[in-house]
Amino acid sequence: MTTMTCAQMGGPADCTATISGNTSQEIIENGTKHVLGSHPEMAEDMKKMTDEEKAKWAADFQPKFDAASEA
Ligand SMILES: [Zn+2]
Repeated sequence: MTTMTCAQMGGPADCTATISGNTSQEIIENGTKHVLGSHPEMAEDMKKMTDEEKAKWAADFQPKFDAASEA
């Protein structure tokens, strides 16, 4: 189980909410739920993302998740 803060996942720098998941897929799903509940403006931006942009975001996120997993 890997835990990251919302800020580490690309959320607002002052958000210290923690998100956990066993895989990058799982932590992204849990992070999305947190954003929907706590950051409606970010959620709106996420809804506007194309599949291509989402794929790029996930690719950028993977090394951050790997680094957090090893810590
Ligand atoms: Zn947050």
